[in-house]
Amino acid sequence: MSVFSPLALTQTLPFLPLAQGDIDYQVERREDPDLFVSVLTAPQTTVMLVDGGRIAVPKGQGALTEYENVALRLATLPGAYVLPELATHPQVVPMFLGSYGGARDEQVVAIDVTRLPAATGTASSGVPDSAFEGADDAFGATSGSGASRRPHAAASLLQQARERFDWVDLRGFAPHASSREAGQATTAATLSVWHMRQRHCPTCGAPVTAAMGGWAQRCTNEDDGHRLLFPRIEPAVIVSVVDAQDRLLLQHNNAWQTTTMYSVSAGFVEAGENLEHACRRETREETGIELGEVRYLGSQPWPFPASLMVAFKARALSTDIRVDGEETGDARWFTRDEYTQALASGRVTPPVKAAIARYMIEEWYGHEL
Ligand SMILES: [Zn+2]
Repeated sequence: MSVFSPLALTQTLPFLPLAQGDIDYQVERREDPDLFVSVLTAPQTTVMLVDGGRIAVPKGQGALTEYENVALRLATLPGAYVLPELATHPQVVPMFLGSYGGARDEQVVAIDVTRLPAATGTASSGVPDSAFEGADDAFGATSGSGASRRPHAAASLLQQARERFDWVDLRGFAPHASSREAGQATTAATLSVWHMRQRHCPTCGAPVTAAMGGWAQRCTNEDDGHRLLFPRIEPAVIVSVVDAQDRLLLQHNNAWQTTTMYSVSAGFVEAGENLEHACRRETREETGIELGEVRYLGSQPWPFPASLMVAFKARALSTDIRVDGEETGDARWFTRDEYTQALASGRVTPPVKAAIARYMIEEWYGHEL
């Protein structure tokens, strides 16, 4: 896992799990009609799988996301086996994620199997048996699944893969993954969730098809000009607030499942609002605190389902906390000693490792949580 993001030249937070990718998108190739044929037949191409925003990992790794100090990696399939499946399964969405090092021999494709139908056992798949043996861990002798779990012969390679791999949430995967694979997974999950949720053109209601290497959709209605549609990203601000004594303002939201979790203020940017205004408004709404200077810390995508978290650090002009008791259950100022004691006693727990809030708190705290 890399310590410094390539983005750290412009941001204060040096490590953000979902913002570490360094892949070259190669945007200019997205309109190539033969894109997936050329990419999937290249021997060094890596193919990963995504299903409704969840990421495929080798069998057995799915149970590891809750552990400390474990390494997770993406399950992969050979591109040559996947290519014929695109013809037999028009419901799957191939997504060209880009290439490393500018060369074409380290290309990455994600296959979105969200709408892949379950194997029925009646249709012939046309996939040779040897394919079942060649596809990474899911089909290996050490998978532990045994002969009784071997899927029906009619199941295609992708249908088998969906059964044989483990599937994990991006929040569980990214903190344990290499920076490159975390970046790939973040993009794939973001696009997968968008394709899952948007099946029709928002303007005319006609069905859409995937376009631009999976990064866009095209409206099928000729009268609507076959409109090209792009994912909507929802910006949200998140603010760490300190007072004149460098105490940090942390609050508990009543909607959070973990009753001891305290975090910094966050909220969606409203229509017609800029980021700084959103910081001031959200902090005032949640804690009653007025903000002075606001400066940028960094950002990371948060595709649950479509947010971009934009982080700021702000200085409070006041210290008198007022919470509504409904959305915000509690808010407090912490010195570093008080925060250390609160963590040690278990009265306060920090945000999860994937969340930018955790790294904002660490930036103030001075070391890792
Ligand atoms: Zn349309």
